[in-house]
Amino acid sequence: METTLPQYDVIGQVEKGVLIGGRWRPATGGATFPVENPATGRHLCEVSDATPADALAALDAASAAQPGWAAVPPRRRGEILRRAHDLLIERMEEFALLITLEMGKSLAESRAEVRYGAHYLRWFGEEAVRIDGTWKVSEDGTARVLVTRQPVGPCLLITPWNAPLAMPARKIGPAVAAGCTMIVKPAAQTPLTTAALAGVLTEAGLPDGVLNIIPTGQAAAVTEPLLRDGRLRKLSFTGSTPVGRLLLSQAAGTVLRTSMELGGNAPFIVCEDADLDAAVDGAMTAKLRNIGEACIAANRFLVHAGVAEEFTRKLVARMGTIALGAGTDPAADLGPLIDERQRRRVADLVDETVAAGARVRAGAVLPDGPGYFYPPTVLTGIPAGARITREEIFGPVAAIRTFTTEDEALRDANDTEFGLVGYLYTRDLNRALRMSERLETGMVGLNRGYVSDPSAPFGGMKQSGIGREGGNTGIDEYLEQKYLAIDLA
Ligand code: NAD
Repeated sequence: METTLPQYDVIGQVEKGVLIGGRWRPATGGATFPVENPATGRHLCEVSDATPADALAALDAASAAQPGWAAVPPRRRGEILRRAHDLLIERMEEFALLITLEMGKSLAESRAEVRYGAHYLRWFGEEAVRIDGTWKVSEDGTARVLVTRQPVGPCLLITPWNAPLAMPARKIGPAVAAGCTMIVKPAAQTPLTTAALAGVLTEAGLPDGVLNIIPTGQAAAVTEPLLRDGRLRKLSFTGSTPVGRLLLSQAAGTVLRTSMELGGNAPFIVCEDADLDAAVDGAMTAKLRNIGEACIAANRFLVHAGVAEEFTRKLVARMGTIALGAGTDPAADLGPLIDERQRRRVADLVDETVAAGARVRAGAVLPDGPGYFYPPTVLTGIPAGARITREEIFGPVAAIRTFTTEDEALRDANDTEFGLVGYLYTRDLNRALRMSERLETGMVGLNRGYVSDPSAPFGGMKQSGIGREGGNTGIDEYLEQKYLAIDLA
C-alpha cells in the first residue's frame, strides 16, 4: 500500500478557516478540529471549528447579501458558474488529489467527481437564464394572472463526506443560479474540498457574502440556531435518513422549505434472461464505485435462482482482480473506507450475517496495516430479514439473495423504507418496463449500473428523500412562485 507523493501542496494551499462575508478567518474562540487521511490514518491538518456564533455571523452575511445578489442579472450569475466550471476542469488534478487525500477514493474516481461536480455548475449556469413565469387569463375572465419566480432567500446547505466536491456543487449550482445566498456546512471528515471549491467560485466572480462556509466538528450545535432563525428560508440536506428525520423535525419549527437527499438501499435485480456479463460489469460499478460509500450503491443483489450461481462465480472472479490500496497509488483500484468507525460497522455487519448462516464467497477478512481498508466481499445465502438487507452497507460488500418469480423479486426489492434507486438487468423490453414501473424508487438503472447526470432529476421516494437535484426542475427547489392578480376593470 505504497502512497506516491502528492505533486501539489494541496493541503497547504487550501483555506482552513470559516468563510463569512467574503473573508476567511479563524473560528470564534480559535478552536480547530483535525482532518485525517483515511488511507494512512495520519493527520492531514487542522480546520477551524465554527461555533454557533460563527453560524449566526454567516447568516448575517447571507441575509445582508441577499437583496443585492437577487438583483444581479441571470446571465451574470450563469457566467460565474460557467467560469467556476472551467476553473475546476483546469485544476482537475489538484482537486482530485485533495478529494483523494481527505476522502480516500482513487485519483481516477476523484477526477470523475471533479468532472461530475463541475458539470452541475455548468448545467445550472445554463438554467439561470431560463427562469421564467406564466401569464394567463383568470377562469372567469375578469383578471390576468402573472406568475413570477424569485429566489427563496438564504439557504443552509448541509453535505456529506462521500462526495466532497459534487454534493456541495449540486446544491451551490442551483442556489447561485436562482439568486440565493447560502451557508454551507461541509462534513467534518472532508471540509478541505469544499473550501477549495469556494476559492474557485470566488475567483469566478461570486460576490462577498453569497457563499459562506462553516466547517465544524459540532454539527448539531451549529445548525440548530440557524434552523430556529426566521431569516433562514431553506434547508437542503444530503446525508443519512436518521439525521434527515431530525433536521425535518427541527425545520418544522419555522415551517422551513426543505430538500432532502437521504440514504438508499438499492436492489440490484438480475433476471433469468439478463446478459450476465453486462450484469456483472454493472454490479462492479454499482457496488464498488466510491468504495461502496454511495447512496446509490447496490445494497441487495436479487438474482434469479436459475442464474445465481453463474452470476456469483463471475462476480467473485471480477472482485478477485481488485487491488486494495491508497487512492494516490495508481496500481490500486479500491481505496479505504472513511474512518475506523465505518470499517467496524461494515465488518460487524458482515460477521453478523455470516454468523446467521451466510456463506463467504470472497473477502470478509480485514487486511493488516494502516488505513481503513475493507476488501471486496461477496456473501450468498443471506437469511431473510437480515440486518444487511435492511441497512445501508456503505462498503464494498455484495449480499446476494435469489428469487424465482418477478413478483417475488419486486416484493423483496420494495420491502424497505428506502426508495432511492433500483437496478434491473433483463433483455425483455416488456419485463423491463413492467418491473421499472413497479419499483418504488426515484431512479432506475436499466441494464446500467450507474445513475446520476446533471440533466436528470436525482432523488428518492419514501424515506430516501424529498425533492430532486439536477434536471430541468432542479432549480425549482431554490425558487418561490409569486402570482400577481391583475384586475382589468
Ligand atoms: P450524516 O447524516 O451522518 O451526515 C451528513 C451531514 O450532516 C454532515 O455534514 C454531518 O456533519 C451533518 N450532521 C450530522 N448530524 C447532524 C445534526 N444532528 N444536525 C445537523 N447536521 C448534522 O451522513 P454521512 O455519514 O456524512 O453521509 C452518508 C449518508 O449520506 C448515507 O446515508 C448516504 O446514503 C447519504 N447520501 C445521500 C445522497 C443522496 O443524494 N440521496 C448522496 C450522498 C450521500
